[in-house]
Amino acid sequence: MSKSKSSESVKVVVRCRPLNRREESNGPAGGIVQMDLRLGQVILRNPRAPASEPQKTFTFDAVYDANSKQRDLYDESVRPLIDSVLAGFNGTIFAYGQTGTGKTYTMQGAWLDPEKRGVIPNAFDHIFTHISRSQSDKQYLVRASYLEIYREEIRDLLDPNHANARALELRESPDTGVYVRDLTSCVCKSIKEIEEVMNVGNQARAVGATDMNEHSSRSHALFLITVECSQPGPDGRKHIRVGRLNLVDLAGSERQAKTGVQGERLKEAAKINLSLSALGNVISALADGRSGHVPYRDSKLTRLLQDSLGGNAKTVMVATLGPAPQHYDETITTLRYASRAKNIQNQPKVNEDPKDALLREFQREIARLRAQLNHRKWRSKQKKEQVEGEVWERDGETEEEEEEEEVEKEAEDYVRLEEQRLEREKEAIREDRFLLAEEKQRLLGEKERMMGDLRKEQEATEQLTAKYKAMESKLLVGGKNIMDHTNEQQKMLEMKRQEIAEQTRREREMQQQMLVQDEETVELRETFTSLQQEVEAKTKKLKKLYAKLQCIKAEIQDVNDEHVRSRQELEQTQNELTRELKFKYLIIENFIPPEEKNKIMNRLTFDPEEDQWKFQPLVPGESKSSRMKKRPASAVGYKRPISQYARVAIAMGAHSRYRAENIMFLELDMTPPSTASLDRSTEAASNQSHSAANSPSKDRGVRKSRSWYQPRKSITSSSSNISLAACHTATPTAAQ
Ligand code: ADP
Ligand code: MG
Repeated sequence: MSKSKSSESVKVVVRCRPLNRREESNGPAGGIVQMDLRLGQVILRNPRAPASEPQKTFTFDAVYDANSKQRDLYDESVRPLIDSVLAGFNGTIFAYGQTGTGKTYTMQGAWLDPEKRGVIPNAFDHIFTHISRSQSDKQYLVRASYLEIYREEIRDLLDPNHANARALELRESPDTGVYVRDLTSCVCKSIKEIEEVMNVGNQARAVGATDMNEHSSRSHALFLITVECSQPGPDGRKHIRVGRLNLVDLAGSERQAKTGVQGERLKEAAKINLSLSALGNVISALADGRSGHVPYRDSKLTRLLQDSLGGNAKTVMVATLGPAPQHYDETITTLRYASRAKNIQNQPKVNEDPKDALLREFQREIARLRAQLNHRKWRSKQKKEQVEGEVWERDGETEEEEEEEEVEKEAEDYVRLEEQRLEREKEAIREDRFLLAEEKQRLLGEKERMMGDLRKEQEATEQLTAKYKAMESKLLVGGKNIMDHTNEQQKMLEMKRQEIAEQTRREREMQQQMLVQDEETVELRETFTSLQQEVEAKTKKLKKLYAKLQCIKAEIQDVNDEHVRSRQELEQTQNELTRELKFKYLIIENFIPPEEKNKIMNRLTFDPEEDQWKFQPLVPGESKSSRMKKRPASAVGYKRPISQYARVAIAMGAHSRYRAENIMFLELDMTPPSTASLDRSTEAASNQSHSAANSPSKDRGVRKSRSWYQPRKSITSSSSNISLAACHTATPTAAQ
């Protein structure tokens, strides 16, 4: 196995499912997808184009038609990847395609039918069979996690509280790259256990969705398996290799119709396929090779798959197609994506002795527990020998292994003997007639305590043993923990099948190479005997090249059309978002006081990690707890904040109830109407100064009578000194 950082391209295979019953009944047109299995080519017919138009041909690492078996796809295209993961590489398999084209069928398949089991169950089988057949100097630790990305939120499917749990965050570390914080990971010791983990996750996925089909075609599911393997190296030390496998079932790649949606629904529509379009952009940027910036950060999915696309992982992409004519557009888009992804180069490398290997921690913990246990047992043995009066010396570590069983036996013997001895002594004390009753009681109590100690010690040892055993059982030893039930014949059969798969793969590669070479060298080989012949040959070649040119022209046209279409869609989304924005602006500008708006705006900061605006806390973080515990103090030294009305009332020497209270006087002041004589010349002037309650009044009677209908307003506005004073002048006795 090479550890070099040589680059290799993403492997892309295409699979086409059979026509389903509904499509068959739609018409006799049949499928539009043809496949050349030997050459790994897909030939696509455009149902709307005239028959003269050349068909489109795409070449891939392998193609699987409607008759293909799950097992063939696994053996030929996935097995080598899983083998690499077991050797310590990172690996990713993802299924991409329109909804209903067989992504889930390919990744999971029908679990109960061995013929129809998909990539994931076959990978489980493969991993644990490999462990069961490996040498006994290897130790393995297998862990599994399961998550989904739905509306740009990462959810842990193994969290029992999945439906209500908060979305998980992505983090990046220099050692492991991008990872999901706080993701549950389960240690799996057998195929059954890992299948159980998968089932739990699948159920959580189903429960979380109101409409399963809708949900599953809009969410991306990632099943992660980490295989750690420790093996003694040539230097005698144990080296750990960590392989990480991502098994990804993507959301359907078709465009979601989003016409006429608003508000929340619009936001949802914008987010649904954000991950997928970001994936497309990443693939384009990587395949292009010229653009320096790869937009991994645009979505959660692309960040999680960062290693798998252009990073240090080996990657297989399974593009799934449906053969029905009505899905021609989707099919060709999938094929274009797939064909672009072929150009992505990865630099896979073995993860050797990473800092975060859990296996190392487990090994340390097991060693510690074992040392503790041994210490206890030695101690028991020592005591036994002391009891028996033997002189005993521990002589080094050499005979440890053989003696271990003996020590364990002796430790058990010691406990038994000690118990018997204490029992005997108790009996002797009871029967001793020369002892005083009190003395007897004391001695018996002491023996009882000694026995209790002995039992406690024994219990502690048992607990320690149980812990040690549980810990040890998590580590799988090559060829030991898992039984391999296949017999020799089956093993031979498996090997043969793998050989055949390998051969088919190589043959296809050679065929493809030959095809390319053929085109290049055809004219070198040709010698022409006559001019006529030369003309004929060249005409033929010209025709061929012309056809090729037409193909490429049509391709350019198609790509242009697609580009225009997606631009129009983007524009439409942009327009809708702009409209939404204008609506929000209108509300903000007209209904939110500017100072409130400024306050809010000053508190907002952008968190690029989470791609969200966040509020800064009002109180600085560290002093928060100490400050918030105290009640807000009153500015002028009152016990509590107090209203201006009450303060003025106190200052005016008012009633004692205002001293520390926030009580306002809300009764109407019922001043009697005045009976002063009306002076017409002054009335007009006083009418003009109508609103000024504290204006110098020429006629006290008129002002008073106005206070008849005004006091309610002036009293309730407790923050206004002026109105309060006015009220007081109007009703000098009211506050009393
Ligand atoms: P997707 O996950 O892409 O939305 P599914 O995997 O759910 O699609 O497949 C839709 C249907 O097509 C399922 O009923 C599945 O059994 C069937 N199907 C898909 N691929 C194949 C295949 N290669 N052979 C037979 N049936 C298939
Ligand atoms: Mg699916």
